[in-house]
Amino acid sequence: MTRRITIVGAGLGGTLAAIFLARRGLEVTLYERRPDLRQVVQPAGRSINLALANRGLKPLRRAGLEPEVRKLLTVMRGRMIHPLDGPLDLQPYGQRSHEVIYSVSRPGLNALLLDAAEAAGVRLRFGMRLAEVDLDADRLEFADECGGARESVPLSPCIGADGAGSLLRKALQELPAYAATEDLLSHGYKELSILPNGIGRHRMESNALHIWPRGGYMLIALPNHDGTFTVTLFLPHEGDPSFASLGTPAAVRNFFAAEFPDAAHMIHDLEGSFFANPTGILGTVRCHPWHLDGRLLLLGDAAHAIVPFHGQGMNCAFEDCLELDRCFEAADGDWGQAFAAFSGRRKPNADAIADMALENYVEMRDSVRDPGFLLRQRVAFELEKRFPERFAPRYALVMFRDDVPYAEAQRRGRIQEEILQSLTAGIDDAGAVDYDRAGRMIAMLLEPLPGNGPD
Ligand SMILES: Cc1cc2nc3c(=O)[nH]c(=O)nc-3n(C[C@H](O)[C@H](O)[C@H](O)COP(=O)(O)OP(=O)(O)OC[C@H]3O[C@@H](n4cnc5c(N)ncnc54)[C@H](O)[C@@H]3O)c2cc1C
Repeated sequence: MTRRITIVGAGLGGTLAAIFLARRGLEVTLYERRPDLRQVVQPAGRSINLALANRGLKPLRRAGLEPEVRKLLTVMRGRMIHPLDGPLDLQPYGQRSHEVIYSVSRPGLNALLLDAAEAAGVRLRFGMRLAEVDLDADRLEFADECGGARESVPLSPCIGADGAGSLLRKALQELPAYAATEDLLSHGYKELSILPNGIGRHRMESNALHIWPRGGYMLIALPNHDGTFTVTLFLPHEGDPSFASLGTPAAVRNFFAAEFPDAAHMIHDLEGSFFANPTGILGTVRCHPWHLDGRLLLLGDAAHAIVPFHGQGMNCAFEDCLELDRCFEAADGDWGQAFAAFSGRRKPNADAIADMALENYVEMRDSVRDPGFLLRQRVAFELEKRFPERFAPRYALVMFRDDVPYAEAQRRGRIQEEILQSLTAGIDDAGAVDYDRAGRMIAMLLEPLPGNGPD
């Protein structure tokens, strides 16, 4: 077995994977096309903060990084709904005090991981873009983004953590019988910001994820430590309204004033930022297999990019890293065995969160305003209180229960939705639910949840 490995992509997933493997005594070289983000100013408008949940925290804890990471986090206890008319409505994510998610700065977290990787002995090569993959000759060719020089290194073994547009995945796609799909969403996103008020504080509730649900589109805002909010508009690319229809500063101003009036006056330099910041694309990548024998493995977005509406892409990439570490240990360093075991365990889970993330877009932009959905949510909380050993809302399974794999959360979620639909048919008050019947249905249809609880 080779004690040396190349990882391509020093984003969130690649860097955490490098830390785990370096701590197992491997000689890890991590190549990144961008300059070292700890030394350059980050461009505006590119997903500045992310929602971190238990699933993502657990691998960070196992890597010994939790205390430092916690310093970067802002607690979000629920969704703060901003209706077009009427008062704000805080919908808690869970009903226990620890059932929260966190907002974290992407560059802050990435920088922390890079420091830890360096400390673990990982060799970091910034400004080195993977330019060519030659599977036959077993070579990778990197281009120095500053000088233009080329560097050729052996491919095997290698981990492709080079994100949604992965060049390594594209190389695998050339192989016969390789299956890969990239489904672009018809909606894109644009990042904007809300600055702190005159005394440096947040202008809105800081312990919530703010949502302006408008049916076919939505605006969201996540708090940052420095009193700012990162605001993201999710909107169709075409049609009316769409990024295409918002072609002038006046159109942007009028759209925000009509649809998001309380946000419009808080967003910093709305028209200027709207046209200066890029419009991002969103999509789902599915591919199979994720590995080529013991030579090459895809991880994180390179293997399974998902839409961001469950806030799970990074969390899923971090779970990948922990699973890879386990598989590496169990395979006693045999890369082929480790890569195969990793793919077998993670693929069904990645497929499940990809589906649930797409479903959650409808929930965030539309269902949160629907009385039927809100009723089922209240009943779900009540069922969780009464039958905690078997019932937990799907959102809680995904976001808080790191001991329940995504595929299991999806399976249970489907059964639970049927139970909720059946219990709430024809009623409009959670108090009117027949909870004896609920207990019988739950006992019959849902096995007990794992006993350990989240780690
Ligand atoms: C708008 C938006 C909001 C999101 N919100 C959340 C959220 O709230 N919670 C959450 O969990 N996830 C969220 N995500 C998803 C999350 O950003 C990704 O899942 C996560 O970044 C994946 O990590 P990764 O390391 O696999 O890929 P990336 O973070 O994309 O890292 C890939 C790295 O590879 C490098 N690279 C690419 N090509 C090459 C090359 N040829 N040579 C060398 N280096 C290369 C890139 O420069 C990059 O540094 C969001 C995504 C978007 C777009």
